[in-house]
Amino acid sequence: MNDAPAFPAAAVPELSGEVLALHRSLLTLDTHIDIPWPEGPDPFEDGKRKVDLPKMVRGGLGAGCFAAYVPQVKRSEESETAAFARAIDMLSAIRGMGRTHRGVAARVAVTADAIEAAKRDGVLAIVPAVENGFAIGRDVTRLNALRAAGARYMTLTHNGHNVLADSAIPRGDLGDPESEHGGLSPLGRRTIDQMNRLGMVVDVAHVSRAAMLQAAQVSRTPVVSTHSCVRALCDHPRNMDDAQLDALRDVGGVIQITAVAGFLRAGGKPETVTLNDFADHVDYAVRRIGIAHVGISSDFDGGGYFSGWNDAGESANVTAALLARGYGKSELALLWGGNFLRVLRRAEELAE
Ligand SMILES: [Zn+2]
Repeated sequence: MNDAPAFPAAAVPELSGEVLALHRSLLTLDTHIDIPWPEGPDPFEDGKRKVDLPKMVRGGLGAGCFAAYVPQVKRSEESETAAFARAIDMLSAIRGMGRTHRGVAARVAVTADAIEAAKRDGVLAIVPAVENGFAIGRDVTRLNALRAAGARYMTLTHNGHNVLADSAIPRGDLGDPESEHGGLSPLGRRTIDQMNRLGMVVDVAHVSRAAMLQAAQVSRTPVVSTHSCVRALCDHPRNMDDAQLDALRDVGGVIQITAVAGFLRAGGKPETVTLNDFADHVDYAVRRIGIAHVGISSDFDGGGYFSGWNDAGESANVTAALLARGYGKSELALLWGGNFLRVLRRAEELAE
C-alpha cells in the first residue's frame, strides 16, 4: 500500500464485492496518463506516482494511454528537432513498459483488437500517444516515425499555440496572441490528413474552440478530446461548450471526462472536488450528446486527481459512483473504453 490516505475516508465510497467484480469484468481504459521524464521511478514498483503498473492492477485499470508529452517552447528549427527527439525517446520508454516484470504482466497494444486481447489474457494494455503536435515541428513526415514508434493519437497542441493550431490557453510568455491561425493553420489541416492516413486519432484536448470545431470537420475519422470536461458546469477554457459537444457527437467522436479538479469545479482543488463532481460532468455530457460519445480519463501525473480518485489504485470508485447514478454494466463498458475503442477501430478502417 501507499502512504497514509491523502483524503478523509468519507470521500471514498464503500465498495461491495459485487461492485468490485463488476468493475473488474469491464475493459477499463484511461485515455490520458503522463509518464515521468527524463527519469522516474520504476513503473513496475508501487511508488509515489498516481499511476504505476501495480496500482493499475490493484485498481482494476486494464489499459492506459501513456503520453509522450512535449512542452511548448519558443519555436525554432532547433527546438522543433529537440521536441521530435524527445517524443521518440519517450515513446521508446513507454513501449518499454510492455513486458512482464515483478509479477506484473503488461504489453504494448496499439489496435482496438490488441487492447481487447490484452484484457482477455489478463495483461495490462499500454497504448502510446503523443501530447502536443509541436513534436513534429513543421515536418508532417515526422508523423510516420511517431506512428511507427507506436503513437496511437496525437494531441494537436498543449498550452500555447504551435505551427499547427491555436491552443485553448495562449502563452503570453511565448508571445502568443489571442489567436494566431484562427483555429487550424493550413499545415495543421495537412497534419490531420496525414494522421487520418496513418490511423492516428486526432486529439482535440488543449486546442482552441475554433481549432477544435475545424478539426472535427476536417478529420475524416472521429476526433476525441482525451482529457477535458464540460464548460456548462465549469467555465474553463480547457472544457467543451455545448456546441463543441454537439460537434463531437455529429462526427462520432468522444469526450473523455477527466479528473483535473480545476476543470471539474471552478477554482476546484483536489481536496474538495469529489466523485460527485466527476459524475456530474459525465451525466451532463451523456444527457447532451448520448452515452456513445462520453468516456473517462484521469490525466494522472499530469495534474489530474481528486478526493475519491486519487490514483489508479482507486479506479473502482469511479465505477461505484457511476453505478450510483444509474449506469448499468453495458453503459459503464462504453464509458470505460468501449466508445474510445470504436473510434480507434474507425481510424484503423479508414487508414491507408
Ligand atoms: Zn494535457
